[in-house]
Amino acid sequence: MMWGNLMEREERRPVELFKSDAKCPNCGSDAKLVVYKYSIPYYGDIGISVLECGRCGYVHRDVFTLRGGAPRKIVYRVEKPGDENALVIRSSHCRIEIPELGLAVEPGIYSQGYITTVEGIIQDFIDALESICSSDEAPRDKCEELRALLEKAKNAEVKYTVILYDYLGSSDVLSSKTTYEELEEG
Ligand SMILES: [Zn+2]
Repeated sequence: MMWGNLMEREERRPVELFKSDAKCPNCGSDAKLVVYKYSIPYYGDIGISVLECGRCGYVHRDVFTLRGGAPRKIVYRVEKPGDENALVIRSSHCRIEIPELGLAVEPGIYSQGYITTVEGIIQDFIDALESICSSDEAPRDKCEELRALLEKAKNAEVKYTVILYDYLGSSDVLSSKTTYEELEEG
């Protein structure tokens, strides 16, 4: 995940926008919410929020674009090596689908938002697969087959489409190839 790198980079450190009191979604205690502004070259400013609970240690991070806001479907085609490097601003409430690979991630209440790349999203699927396939009952052949496919996808050796369904319009894939479609509220 690029989160660590992002926060440590001296030259482009996030700027604190505001602090506020919040309730911890985990234990209900008083928590602190800090919102930062972070500037991405050739794109603009994005927001980063960090909610921290001093009582139970729960931390929730999220990212959002400071433009847009309309519900939208974000479509990005991976067609050739290099396409996997596109930056993805993935808000916590956003659903990700890669139809050609049969993959989907539903947002959950504890989902975190983060900045990653298409390669990073595929790596998340590889990590999830490894944990599922480490069980004794896991079908070996299927696991190997899917792992091989994901490794190819990670290096853009196969073509596929990354689709983000974002009802708050705060996610994005940073590329001139990205296309957008309106989504019905829901
Ligand atoms: Zn808490």
